[in-house]
Amino acid sequence: MTRNPKNKKRNTKAVSSMFDSIPHELVSEVLSRVASSSIKDIFNAKLSCKMLNEIAEDTYVYQRVSLEEVPIIPWKPISQEQVTFLNTCLQSENPECLYRQAVLDYFSRTNLESTCMHLRKAVKNGHTDALYVTCIVLLFSGDEELKQQGIKLLGNMKKTNGLKRRLRICRNNLNSILKMIWVKNPVLLEPPVWCTAQDPHHRKRRWSEVEEDVTCEACVADQEINLLSGRYNFD
Ligand SMILES: [Zn+2]
Repeated sequence: MTRNPKNKKRNTKAVSSMFDSIPHELVSEVLSRVASSSIKDIFNAKLSCKMLNEIAEDTYVYQRVSLEEVPIIPWKPISQEQVTFLNTCLQSENPECLYRQAVLDYFSRTNLESTCMHLRKAVKNGHTDALYVTCIVLLFSGDEELKQQGIKLLGNMKKTNGLKRRLRICRNNLNSILKMIWVKNPVLLEPPVWCTAQDPHHRKRRWSEVEEDVTCEACVADQEINLLSGRYNFD
């Protein structure tokens, strides 16, 4: 059945006037929830009427939009519209967008300043993967004080209920990005050993692919990097 364009126009008008009576903040909240579950749904909502299209441009909506269906590395060149969309996500401090940018900044572009800026914002917005990458960056910093902070932070993640299991997901997520991108940062090529304890407890250990329960925090860091290191597309 073909729709009568006049009816469509009338319906759009009716939807617009219906939204006129609802506070802007409420519509923005609803749209942000739509955006957080599906990018396709929010784009469909934007196409449905002018008012929704305008309100969906709120920073709050971009902040919460799900990037699950947006590939980290697109297989074909992306359109100007997609570039603008991703830039707006980044400027709106969408945590997943900030996280992805930080991973690319650090491992592929070796831009530490930009990495830290994006990680800080993503962690502030509650992105656990960004917290995990912060640990990794601190561990590789080469600075004794920062390295200790990384060991402590990673140790705390392992000790916190809920985060310990999440940590494995964070590692897998980072691993899958590293397999997709061109890793130019050589830090993973020769990972240093952090546990410098005099007793030979760490030497006895043969790191395997399986995560073990380790009590020494420095050994936790060594194990983590061991689990993360792999054969990536090094330059
Ligand atoms: Zn140790």
